[in-house]
Amino acid sequence: MQAKTLLVLDDDIDSANIIAKEAEGYGFKVSIIESAVLFVDQVSAINPSHLAIHIEMPELDGTALLADLAQLQCTSSIILSSSFGTPALIAAQLAAIKHRLNVRGVLPRPFNRSFNHVILKNMLTDLVSVDLDLYTSTTDNERQSYVVDEAAIFEAISNNQFLLYYQPVLNLQNGKLVGFEALIRWRHPELGIRLPETFIPFTEKTGQIDPITHQVILMGFAFLAKLKPELTLSINISAKSIKNDHLLEVFNQACQKFGIDPKRVVLELTETATMNNPDEAEYVLSRLRDLGFRLSIDDFGTGYSSMAQLARLPFTELKIDKSFVTTMESSSKSRKVIGSTIALAQSLGLTTVAEGIENSLAAIGLRELGCQFGQGYYFARPMDQDAAFLWMQNWHSQY
Ligand code: C2E
Ligand code: MG
Ligand code: MG
Repeated sequence: MQAKTLLVLDDDIDSANIIAKEAEGYGFKVSIIESAVLFVDQVSAINPSHLAIHIEMPELDGTALLADLAQLQCTSSIILSSSFGTPALIAAQLAAIKHRLNVRGVLPRPFNRSFNHVILKNMLTDLVSVDLDLYTSTTDNERQSYVVDEAAIFEAISNNQFLLYYQPVLNLQNGKLVGFEALIRWRHPELGIRLPETFIPFTEKTGQIDPITHQVILMGFAFLAKLKPELTLSINISAKSIKNDHLLEVFNQACQKFGIDPKRVVLELTETATMNNPDEAEYVLSRLRDLGFRLSIDDFGTGYSSMAQLARLPFTELKIDKSFVTTMESSSKSRKVIGSTIALAQSLGLTTVAEGIENSLAAIGLRELGCQFGQGYYFARPMDQDAAFLWMQNWHSQY
């Protein structure tokens, strides 16, 4: 294989040039080809380290193309470019997993300059992932200059400025959709969409997290009520909210209001959340479990916890933290942590979910290690409700 070589297949020369320019900036030698007919021959002739494929070209059968690459035993890092959630893209993603091709990720079309820049850098230079949000305009500068105060949060609660994005969770063994995780966003009147890390910790300190959790539950349940009954919704619960019966009451009432079976709801808590006050956590979590809710340990491996205490709590699921998943290709330590975490979960009778799956190799590796479910940018980014419905239609049409 020729290091730092990129072959671009794109029928739109402007797009191809944008990719080429970016790659040349990282020292790549780039060739562009506009027709799929000669593409596979070119791959076999040049044996490039990277491929960028526009998957929605007219007349192109992306699935067949990937099968041909697999037949060549292609080990190039592949970047697919496509508009969001289309059947062609989904079929290609599934084909990549089936053929064990190294798809690094998806470059969304139409191109957005700053977004492309970060994503391409990530995929071409094999950097550990940068946390990005397709629908977020947050830049590092904005993050730093952004100050939250109690009055602004109060206004956000009163004026319904919080909303939920949804990220699909898939069965890694058969590709079927099992449900979504709800992830909060703040539609700030001046700054646009804000990520939870910029305001959730603050609201935990001021005590404003409880009304926010309440709104999250209502919004999430309204979404869940519109989904097929076999699908689940995971909701993140702050440590500060598992302290009294109020949470039980809110969940109970929401189930009645929306006609939701508690079995369809997964509450995600971090290890640290449950360890701060294990007796209280045990009381509240056992009651929630008795009502039928499922309980998940989020970000497993990043907090501090004692196995004895964890085993005592009625968890049903364990989430492998994205810091291990995004580094599993480069770090044998991460792979070992993931392997032993899955073994631990199995011995405790817990299902396993991996977060932060950013490419097909991670999906393949996790499946081989026995991880049952997964989510990540490789399949879909967190998206608003309308986009989630659109994505779901396309995903289902593949089965
Ligand atoms: P989390 O529950 O561990 O959620 C996973 C985070 O990983 C999300 O960040 C998600 O956007 C991001 N992610 C998903 N796929 C990938 C991927 O392939 N690669 C990478 N690098 N990241 C990926 P987000 O949405 O910014 O949420 C951050 C954290 O904020 C969540 O971590 C959760 O702890 C907290 N949070 C989110 N929504 C709520 C909420 O409604 N209530 C509370 N209390 N906390 C929330
Ligand atoms: Mg979570
Ligand atoms: Mg997590």
